Amino acid sequence: MKWSLFVGRPFGIRVYVHWTFLILIGWILFARLGNPLADVMSLLLFLFLLFFSVFLHEMGHALMARRFKVKTKDIILLPIGGMARFKKIPEEPAAEFFIALAGPAVNAILALLLFGLLAGLGHPPQFPEKLSLVSGEFALLQNLFWANALLAAFNLVPAFPMDGGRVLRGLLGFRMNHEKATTITAEVGQALGIVFVILGFMYSLGLLFIGIFVFLGASAESSRESMQSSLRSYKVSNILIKHYTSLRPDQGIMDAVELLLAGQEREFLVMDQGKVVGVLTKKEIFNGLAAHGNQASVRKIMISHFPHLRLDSHLDEALQLLQEKDCPIGPVYRGEKIVGILDKENIEELLTLNKAMQQYLDSPIRDIQGGKS
Ligand SMILES: [Zn+2]
Repeated sequence: MKWSLFVGRPFGIRVYVHWTFLILIGWILFARLGNPLADVMSLLLFLFLLFFSVFLHEMGHALMARRFKVKTKDIILLPIGGMARFKKIPEEPAAEFFIALAGPAVNAILALLLFGLLAGLGHPPQFPEKLSLVSGEFALLQNLFWANALLAAFNLVPAFPMDGGRVLRGLLGFRMNHEKATTITAEVGQALGIVFVILGFMYSLGLLFIGIFVFLGASAESSRESMQSSLRSYKVSNILIKHYTSLRPDQGIMDAVELLLAGQEREFLVMDQGKVVGVLTKKEIFNGLAAHGNQASVRKIMISHFPHLRLDSHLDEALQLLQEKDCPIGPVYRGEKIVGILDKENIEELLTLNKAMQQYLDSPIRDIQGGKS
């Protein structure tokens, strides 16, 4: 992960902190310049504990995901919140429901514990008059209590991209298929977004922004889902590149350049004794030339981490494999035999084509024409 600091590997899950945290800390120090040092330190301590709560929230997702055999790639902590990235997105209703719920549940438990602690100390949490940090006795515990209560509540708003959106979709998924559940959740999210925007105009600018955020998140998730389902209706064989040229790893980069200039091909397999050992696209050839000059070998510039794709896989699975390896193309096999190449660009083109076709079918002009005929 670029721009992020590796901080540790609890339970085997890599955790990173984004460098923009430094800006946040710098900004706080700058804004509080001249304030007593103790105040600034206690604010920083609160922020540290707040982000530790966010980290525990993400760990909740990650450890619950493990129970459903979904691996977590990493956890990234950003000043705006945390993010647990999974190797694959769980679509099974029970998995989605419990994994999404686990994060806010951690904050709810923390809030309950803090509530108990404060009550035990004789200072039960008081409702603050406005949304800001409270001061006075046990201020740190009070603020942490409210922060965790808010984190739990905010994340449970039933709209994408909040956890609550996934919780709702998981619940609906027990009664209907994934696409239908996504559509309903997206509609709930958009409706909530509009409500927040209206409330925002009446009460606070913060709500207005949350409303816009929720509305856009709901729309993005529903278009992601419709992309997934349109890819699911195709197989790798539908857009296979059957004619391909292969290179040997010991050939020179200029051989690759020559092939590129000679023909229509943009992607090549690198083969050694009948086995694919790497892949190459126009980009690697150009970058390789710029970085290593015209004497470099194909081995030096090829991508050696690539997925092995199957001819009868659905395109959504194939795209996911390419994305996991961050690789633009992959060799396609039928049994043990190589039958061609799949190019991520072609998948994107297929999606664009599909979208254009859908627009044509949805357009009102078409309805009128349809009505006449
Ligand atoms: Zn979460």
